Amino acid sequence: MQEEMTSLERCLATIRQQPHDRVPVDLHNFMMTVVDVKLPSAQLYQDGQLLGEAQVAAWKRFGHDMLLVENGTAALAEACGCEVSYLPGSAPLIERALLGSLSEVASLRKPDPFGSPLCRATMDATRYVLDQIGDQVCVMGRADQGPFDLASMISGPQTLLTEMAVGECDDQIFELLDYTSDAYILYAKLFKEMGCPGTSVGEALCSPDVISPAMYEKYCLPYGKKVVKALQSDDFFLAYHTCGNTSRIIDRMVQTGAKVLEFDYKCNMAVAKRATAGKTTLLGPIDPSGVLHHGTIEEVEAACRAAIEVLAPGGGFILGPGCALPGTTPPENIDKLVECAKVYGKY
Ligand SMILES: [Zn+2]
Repeated sequence: MQEEMTSLERCLATIRQQPHDRVPVDLHNFMMTVVDVKLPSAQLYQDGQLLGEAQVAAWKRFGHDMLLVENGTAALAEACGCEVSYLPGSAPLIERALLGSLSEVASLRKPDPFGSPLCRATMDATRYVLDQIGDQVCVMGRADQGPFDLASMISGPQTLLTEMAVGECDDQIFELLDYTSDAYILYAKLFKEMGCPGTSVGEALCSPDVISPAMYEKYCLPYGKKVVKALQSDDFFLAYHTCGNTSRIIDRMVQTGAKVLEFDYKCNMAVAKRATAGKTTLLGPIDPSGVLHHGTIEEVEAACRAAIEVLAPGGGFILGPGCALPGTTPPENIDKLVECAKVYGKY
């Protein structure tokens, strides 16, 4: 089937709220691309060349429009001094807080992405994919984490959430969030300079599943706005990622100004569409661990058709998983996801 636009043109037109031929489709598939590689996970996720080649191979297999290049959620935290844990069969993790308490915030060092093996691998992989196919597809090298998630890794989520609830350490929390938003900006800028059309701001914990909408407004929204203002431009978009049921904050996520909002299957689609129409592009929201991992091909098709029906009218929609796909997701389900965008997503 000859299509009217390249994948890159289609994605950029969608993000710029301009006319396009059909709904673009992305894959959040970094674990799937390396599931058959028999290497210890430290070696695997620190190898940018391997990760880049795996992304290109997956694109040749599935033919999606947008590629999300990453190696989990630990890279920027590593650049800030956190110790990374590698568990078999899992993406790299931060298990131990860097700070003993929030009073140590002033001791944090300047982040060094080039001194972090995980950041270097993400940048190398992204550069490789851009070199190979960046003129055809939309390559989103991912600068995760965003300010709030990075703060929770550095201080420990328990400490951060408890101190937010107690409310007596706000000065230190804001100092930490200033540090993490500057760290994010420093790292994300490298993807912009590399020639990526956009990057991500991963804020999984900003979800109403974890914190209240009032806390979102106080501790997340101002820093979301700050990083968008510092980085986003006509030729560089930010994709703001929040997990879980974001129906109650999706209007405030729009206020960050991010051109793309990545959202999960738990969010009410009609609410999300109303909040974003004509302003922001939605990316998601098919359930990665449920329907895409465990569902039948028919269930995948039904979920994709339902999403396209609500979210595609008027544009501003990229179909894909609402969060990262498990490594063992059946390829046939991914074929169906991609096919649905091509068949049912036509304008
Ligand atoms: Zn998520």
